[in-house]
Amino acid sequence: LRESDIVVDNQITVCVRKRPLNDKEYGKKEVDVITVPTKDILIVHEPKHKVDLTKYLDNQHFRFDYVFDETCNNELVYNFTAKPLVKTIFEGGMATCFAYGQTGSGKTHTMGGEFKGKHQNFNNGIYAYVAHDVFRYLQHSKYKDQNFCVSASFFEIYGKLVFDLLAKKERLKVLEDGKQVVQVVGLTEKVVERVEDVLELIQRGSHERTSGQTSANSNSSRSHAVFQIIIRKFGRNVKNVVGKFSLIDLAGNERGADTFKSNRQTRIEGGDINKSLLALKECIRALGKKGTHCPFRGSKLTQVLRDSFIGEKSRTCMIALISPGVASCEHSLNTLRYADRVKEL
Ligand code: ADP
Ligand code: MG
Repeated sequence: LRESDIVVDNQITVCVRKRPLNDKEYGKKEVDVITVPTKDILIVHEPKHKVDLTKYLDNQHFRFDYVFDETCNNELVYNFTAKPLVKTIFEGGMATCFAYGQTGSGKTHTMGGEFKGKHQNFNNGIYAYVAHDVFRYLQHSKYKDQNFCVSASFFEIYGKLVFDLLAKKERLKVLEDGKQVVQVVGLTEKVVERVEDVLELIQRGSHERTSGQTSANSNSSRSHAVFQIIIRKFGRNVKNVVGKFSLIDLAGNERGADTFKSNRQTRIEGGDINKSLLALKECIRALGKKGTHCPFRGSKLTQVLRDSFIGEKSRTCMIALISPGVASCEHSLNTLRYADRVKEL
């Protein structure tokens, strides 16, 4: 992948990132079943058995806007995905970037920052890179004297509930007025003046999100985290929203399959996650096809992001994350099929 491969004007960008095998997978002698032969093709080599039990590999090809293999770092992924969308929010549009995939595939690593053991470096996640570029734009002569005000918020959607990650997980209500304007009532929105201010909020919200979790089936895999950078412009008395960049670390998509589990709570959660991911797919597809209805009321997630799915100027990017191991094959195929459908005509 070269800089010259970046397409800057896609309204919808869909790409896939494959992470390296981790120590646990090496320990189990898991084989890597994913190959990336070119910058936009990915092949899954799924082990199968014939009726007579002879083994064979079913090679399934997928094509996306970009495919990032295990050698790509966060900065490179950012340059091809969210970076081209930053200018949108200065031009009166909405930008969104989603991280989609099974638990453990690298969503939080990509959005929040690379992990070194348990320590996460919030400096090199997509949240931070967007913040850097927003402040860089503000230095530009074109925007410098326009009285822009930048702020950020960070919240979590768990089933039908919304929690403020910048206010000790206070529960928030979502209201829709007669004009279909959706508002998260009381959501903390902190004014930020430099990148360090944003990093502090990312760190605070991320800790809030993962605190109080115990098992491997930790809570963050069952909720969507929404980090937003908002640009406002001072008018006479009001501060009007000019643009908004929403960055979403989605719930683990394998949770959707929990719809069939026997535990009641798990089943309900699985149902909510499944519903929200299906609604999300339909809303992004509607964005790509003018005149189609956007079913944003299908879930809390799509409801709070309604603004992002309407308007000629809205742009969206989805990063589908996959684990390379053979044990994740089924989940990876589900992720790839979903990502494929998001952009399919
Ligand atoms: P998710 O949020 O999708 O559940 P995480 O982002 O927490 O997954 O990633 C799970 C583990 O895999 C973490 O330890 C993370 O550091 C590691 N990991 C994910 N993506 C990569 C990558 N591209 N390179 C190296 N390690 C990765
Ligand atoms: Mg995560």
